[in-house]
Amino acid sequence: MSKLIVILGGGESGVGAAILALKEGYEVFVSDGGAISDERKKLLEAQKIPFEENLHTWGKIKKAELVVKSPGIPDTAGIVAKLRKKNFEVISEIEFAYRFMGDAKIIAITGTNGKTTTSLLTHHLLKTAGYNVALGGNVGTSLAGLVAEGTHDYYVVEVSSFQLDGIVEFKPDIAILLNITPDHLDRYDNKFENYVSSKFRIIENLTQEEAFIYCADSKPITEELNRRKAESCVFAMSVSKHEKLGAYLEEDHLIFNYEFRDNDQHHKIPVSEISLIGKHNMVNSMAAVLSSIHLNVPTDKILKGLKTFKNAPHRLEYVEEIDGVAYINDSKATNVDSVYYALDGIKQGIIWIAGGIDKGNDYHQVEELVEEKVKGLICMGKDNHGLVDFFTEKTERIVEVDNVKKALEVAHEWAEPGDVVLLSPACSSFDLFDNYEDRGDKFKRAVKNLGKEIKVTKS
Ligand code: ADP
Repeated sequence: MSKLIVILGGGESGVGAAILALKEGYEVFVSDGGAISDERKKLLEAQKIPFEENLHTWGKIKKAELVVKSPGIPDTAGIVAKLRKKNFEVISEIEFAYRFMGDAKIIAITGTNGKTTTSLLTHHLLKTAGYNVALGGNVGTSLAGLVAEGTHDYYVVEVSSFQLDGIVEFKPDIAILLNITPDHLDRYDNKFENYVSSKFRIIENLTQEEAFIYCADSKPITEELNRRKAESCVFAMSVSKHEKLGAYLEEDHLIFNYEFRDNDQHHKIPVSEISLIGKHNMVNSMAAVLSSIHLNVPTDKILKGLKTFKNAPHRLEYVEEIDGVAYINDSKATNVDSVYYALDGIKQGIIWIAGGIDKGNDYHQVEELVEEKVKGLICMGKDNHGLVDFFTEKTERIVEVDNVKKALEVAHEWAEPGDVVLLSPACSSFDLFDNYEDRGDKFKRAVKNLGKEIKVTKS
């Protein structure tokens, strides 16, 4: 009889783990306390993997030799607490996948913000250099799903704190920690320090053989590093100060000081050679480049990759130029911090489209940038009083609209050649849209339509 693995959760990571477990010769049972999507049920049925949904049958689960938990299920869930109490081994899906990855090199990327961008860019740089590399984890295919699909030499893995919570031996060759700000605290007893500890688990198994790349501008990271010693070799990144070992921003260049064993490399890359914009993206770029240098990617390939990279949609995404004005979709910017990076990164005059559901935003952080760069503010939401109250005296022009088409009509009227029209809402989207993707897609469609209309009028 083969060993039974019980997988808790039938989502992306649960189904990935189930398929990998089957491939590795285990008996598998998937148990989900909620509903499993039709698409995933079909995947399980195709592989003849038994599953249950909307319940956990203890009689079946208790036969498990190993339990793999999906990141969405908290440790406080009844079934997990019961398993732990009875000393079952409960691990996360990335830990399970890790056990079958052999000699493959893993670049694991975590942080509160910037994980997806950095993962995509790192993957792109390695791919551009011709490496046999896969991308997954918290973005796209689960790590277990990737490992089940076939072998790669390199895996770029986006990891969330929830995934790190259930690791035991998981040891990336390169661990990247971008930043830590309060988030998901409901899963961490409302204690920020617990969330910080969770993020730091990314380095808990590292030795002198591995690399740790972190952003030294993030105070919670540096404070935690003062309390504990990293066992690995360490590279720091900063946009505000020189880093002897690592990378930093100096005016219009990224400077890289890399030393590891007898490999000593120093590079200066002009910011203009990088397709991403904004200071936050300079940190993301430093992380991807340092990883590439560590993995011996030639400099010309790194430069080529930086130039040709296209980020995931809705993150400072260039849409089109109309009458000399660039339209940018940053719909993913659902808080003031993200807007700060957008306004800071754009050098031109800005017509700023913001608004949506304002969760008590404090706009002081962007006040100066708005006064300096914003030529007009278009508030697009059902209730705009937060924005209107704060900015009425601080912007040349301010207007309220309740749909994208109207917002763009105003933006087109206000903008002059050389300006940028920026959708960077600082708010969530659920008042007028399904989600941030829907908002970004509608914005892009409306920009394209506007472009067409203008062309027709001119011809
Ligand atoms: P995640 O996958 O961690 O959610 P994304 O790469 O999707 O991160 O970026 C989400 C938003 O976070 C971006 O629109 C940007 O506003 C912000 N962001 C990206 N990188 C960083 C960074 N290094 N520091 C702070 N904020 C960032």
